[in-house]
Amino acid sequence: MPSDVRLDSPEQEHFLRELIDAGLLIESGVPGVYGHGAEFERVRAAFAALITEAGRASGAEQLTFPPVIPKRNLETAGYVGNFPHLAGSIFGFEGSEADARVVRERAAAHEDWSEYADQTDLMMLPAACYPLYPAIAARGPVPPGGVLVDIGAAWVFRHEPSLDPARRQSFRMHELVRIGEAEGVSNWRADWAKRAVELLSGLGLDARIENASDPFFGRAGRLLAANQSAEELKWELVIPIAGPEPTACASFNYHLDRFAETWGLRFADGTAAHTSCIGFGQERIVAALLRTHGLEPESWPEAVRSRLRLTSDEEGAGGGPRPGATVTAW
Ligand code: ATP
Ligand code: ZN
Repeated sequence: MPSDVRLDSPEQEHFLRELIDAGLLIESGVPGVYGHGAEFERVRAAFAALITEAGRASGAEQLTFPPVIPKRNLETAGYVGNFPHLAGSIFGFEGSEADARVVRERAAAHEDWSEYADQTDLMMLPAACYPLYPAIAARGPVPPGGVLVDIGAAWVFRHEPSLDPARRQSFRMHELVRIGEAEGVSNWRADWAKRAVELLSGLGLDARIENASDPFFGRAGRLLAANQSAEELKWELVIPIAGPEPTACASFNYHLDRFAETWGLRFADGTAAHTSCIGFGQERIVAALLRTHGLEPESWPEAVRSRLRLTSDEEGAGGGPRPGATVTAW
């Protein structure tokens, strides 16, 4: 096992083994990087469809971004400075024929060839919402009433190898982002925190909201985390999975006008907009469902299957609602 792998509880490691043995997760050889079996992915897609529908019902615009992001974006946003331990940079080869021969030999022997790799202008996307703020700012002034965007379930990367099946290096984060006037944005976040608890409790999960902070790096980071916590800028929806503590399965972040100042998100009269993003950890929610209701979605309580539209008469191809299906309120 590489030395940077986080040591997790035996219960978490045991649960990981169960998920792999049941074919729900597929091992890659690196902790925190897994393929998904068909059943796992069906449940994930079914849950994602509920969020997409809720977003659509509120008039959300759908925008999709790739799992890589310009390095410049994350530098400007402060991500590189605040979370250097989680960031993933992309390196590429730009050497000569002779260099390539060395790389080929070292790679074949699984030896270090990193001296032949140069940093590119791309990094791995660490949270779904980063590409959105400059994209909206580029449109010009924020329209009155603001904007609401559903970014969908984006693939994100965080360098935090672990044997906890709920702590991945590569996972999908479904984010909704609201940009607008201070009061509207803050109410939107509070509203969604309530709706999310209702939604997940309705799926038989023991969900509650807690005040939280981001894992900022180092001593300066501890101060940032303390401020974030004191101002209640981050709430998490936690659910018991396999750890000693319940796991954060969704987060509700209020950035005040920080991102607006960074990216120039202003109304026509020059006032800075406020922004908020909410992120659902897709794999954590599936893991919570599997842990709570058992490893076979077919034997889950009927009410849970029906809310996720996994029941055979309601389900479309791959889970989720049929096209044109009636939306159930939750
Ligand atoms: P930002 O404010 O920078 O956009 P964020 O709030 O979107 O960050 P987090 O709160 O850290 O980012 O993550 C959102 C959700 O993603 C978490 O609530 C959790 O469910 C899930 N998540 C975070 N880290 C992991 C991980 N390592 N493995 C699996 N799921 C994760
Ligand atoms: Zn976000």
